[in-house]
Amino acid sequence: MTVTVRFAPSPTGNIHIGNARTALFNWLYAKQHAGRFILRFDDTDQARSKQSYADQIGKDLKWLGIVPDAVAYQSARFPAYDAAVEKLKQAGLLYPCYETAEELERRRKIRLSRRLPPVYGREALKLTDEERAQLEAEGRKAHWRFLLPNFESNPFETQRTEINWDDIVRGRQTVDLASMSDPVLVREDGTYLYTLPSVTDDIEMGVTHVIRGDDHVTNTGLQIALFRALGANEPAFGHHNLLTAASGEGLSKRTGALSVMSLALQGYEPMAVASLAVLTGTAHAVSAMPDMDALKAAFDPAQVSKSAAKFDPADLDILNKALVHEMPYAAVRDRLSAFGIPDELGEAFWLAVRGNLVKVADAAGWWSIVANGPADDEALAAEDIDFVREAFDLLPEEPWDPGTWKAWTERVKQATGRSGKALFMPLRIALTGRRSGPEISDLLPLLGRAGTLARRP
Ligand code: GLU
Repeated sequence: MTVTVRFAPSPTGNIHIGNARTALFNWLYAKQHAGRFILRFDDTDQARSKQSYADQIGKDLKWLGIVPDAVAYQSARFPAYDAAVEKLKQAGLLYPCYETAEELERRRKIRLSRRLPPVYGREALKLTDEERAQLEAEGRKAHWRFLLPNFESNPFETQRTEINWDDIVRGRQTVDLASMSDPVLVREDGTYLYTLPSVTDDIEMGVTHVIRGDDHVTNTGLQIALFRALGANEPAFGHHNLLTAASGEGLSKRTGALSVMSLALQGYEPMAVASLAVLTGTAHAVSAMPDMDALKAAFDPAQVSKSAAKFDPADLDILNKALVHEMPYAAVRDRLSAFGIPDELGEAFWLAVRGNLVKVADAAGWWSIVANGPADDEALAAEDIDFVREAFDLLPEEPWDPGTWKAWTERVKQATGRSGKALFMPLRIALTGRRSGPEISDLLPLLGRAGTLARRP
């Protein structure tokens, strides 16, 4: 059977790095098993869902390197959910309830005071046809609950009913259906909660592995019961730990913080974001994987820790820097030409500066130094001006190559008696306007003799 996974975001905001973790876990798992990846928009809540968010999610996944094999919208699939409802009703597994939220809360408190588990007591199952008709005549509308299979023959005498699965992340899991309320599948206004559409789609789309955050572990117990009630075998499940800030606070789509889109706009490399999103909270060191194949090789769902995956967004800079320092010119050529860097100098320039960059876009600052003149970060000290003038008078003739710097500084040393930092630093400042940066030996051939002389103080 072809491994088939799905990523099921609700298009109610931009996805953040924690959502990217779920998407990438699915993607990498599919890639490891030559499987399929479905992007399925969980947009049954039509008031909150927006096509613009769905479009952005598609772009964010593409930016991360994820190309879905299929895209589906739950809002286009209501007939399938209606059919599932009919099937459950026919089997007597979906029953109408009329309680208001206040009534349920009152009952919950009573149960708690009697030391009973605060689950729904199935009172609506006892309603006679007349009582139902009466409630409807009063204007009440039914919401519908799924009758969990946690009893032998009398639904009011529940008994411990274990649902077990071998979670591909967490190992053996057990959930007791008697500890849960019958879940509401359909609201009073006829709209669907997430559970039934999700299970229906997982069945109809042939999903073999459901990989998602561990906030869904309890849901999985009742979803497995629902798969079985609909006559299907349940898929395999994997629940990964959630990314949290160092404070332990979870990420939220609502705040927009650490959204994939904002990280892209800040100039991070997709593989820096993907490496942090996937490797945090696993047995693997969090390091920058150069491409998706390397990340695929490093990814092992069984090596994911069960506690929260705390991460520090500042690590993105460290990972990004590591990637940029190794990046070949071909990977950045287009971006550099967008900064106006000509192709004939591009490679030499890139190899000279990449070791000093956190982000590729930082190359623009160095290009401006090469093309337009020193930055104004650091001024030459007054006592160095005469020394630098004398040094510039000793510049070798062209052609220049990476050996020119050594030849030049040897001459300057002979003539002035300066050496070490006292010699190099004033020249670096005169040439670049900065105290640190790329090797001057690499910059000189890019500046050329005329470009260098133009910097003579
Ligand atoms: N929309 C749900 C979520 O983002 C999907 C959960 C699932 O993968 O089943 O939490």
